[in-house]
Amino acid sequence: MGDMSQREHFVPPEGGREVYTTKAVPVGSLVIGGGAPLVVQTMWKGPLTPETVSTIVEELERLSKMGCGLMRFAVPDMTAAEVVGRIAERSLMPVVADIHFDWRLALRVMDFPVAKVRINPGNIGARWKVEEVVRKAEEKGVAIRVGVNSGSLPKHLRHDPDVAAALVKAAEEELEILGSLGFERVIVSLKASDIETTVRANRVFAQRYEIPLHLGVTEAGPLIPGIVKSTAALVPLLSEGIGDTIRVSLSDSCEKEVLVGMEIARASGRRNTGVNLVSCPRCSRYSFDVMGFIERVYPYLLSIERPITVAVMGCVVNGPGEARYADLAITGTGRGIFLYRKGEKIREVAPDEAVDAFLEEIQHLL
Ligand code: SF4
Repeated sequence: MGDMSQREHFVPPEGGREVYTTKAVPVGSLVIGGGAPLVVQTMWKGPLTPETVSTIVEELERLSKMGCGLMRFAVPDMTAAEVVGRIAERSLMPVVADIHFDWRLALRVMDFPVAKVRINPGNIGARWKVEEVVRKAEEKGVAIRVGVNSGSLPKHLRHDPDVAAALVKAAEEELEILGSLGFERVIVSLKASDIETTVRANRVFAQRYEIPLHLGVTEAGPLIPGIVKSTAALVPLLSEGIGDTIRVSLSDSCEKEVLVGMEIARASGRRNTGVNLVSCPRCSRYSFDVMGFIERVYPYLLSIERPITVAVMGCVVNGPGEARYADLAITGTGRGIFLYRKGEKIREVAPDEAVDAFLEEIQHLL
């Protein structure tokens, strides 16, 4: 890549995250990098047919309210390219087309208003094919993610014992093609299925380039191991200021990927808006059903942008105490269910009124 993307000097991250400042890349209505807020994204897992377009557009609206900024779709054939294109025409959320093997799919999908295409250096093929994709992306104002994956490295790098170095090298080779055409609307991802490789590859890349990074652990597994692996890899990187967008890859729903992504962003200090939910794990002392209550209010809490702390507690042992630190709290006490605003008891509610009363009180804080 040209001078603009390569760091001249690297300052160790002691001085703060500004040492990893990246270039701002417009992706549809979003900006990735350049100090823009971290973008949480996911990938569509359901059927993709002309009949599903309206349902998918509605689902994107729902996920957007939960904090999802970007949706990626696999594009395995020309029919999918057209369906993804139709979704992009109707969706307010920017749409990313995920291309493997056939560069013509990237060319076709860019006839529609997609915001970004992802290409995989391990399988997109000859240089001239990449060049055709890059020229069309330039013409259409589409961003490109060079998405390198440890499971599909280019052939000549597959046997490198240092997988992190091979991931970086694969990205650099592809970036050289993009750079030779003066293309700058680029984002890179370096994904492995193990934590150490993912962290190391991204650190090395961030020290060398100002190109925004999309972070993720590939094939992280089902919900619980997937959360643990993704958190272990992403929190250190994000806390150091590395990473501009994240995707948590789970053998579970898009909704769960977004929820986990939002919590990882918060735990890394990269998202300071929204509800900080404090809740007790519940034990046999409980006189208020914490889990059942949270299940009902959590989707709504996710749509709140304002930074507030909410406590949901099972009993008098820690309930009133946590209420002191919360903007709004609800707790069982054994003598009833009470709502607190900034530590002050404001009302008592019956179990079947708890959700409505809580949502009513939260409105007063917004
Ligand atoms: S607040 Fe009460 S119910 Fe919740 S874990 Fe603590 S002791 Fe148990």
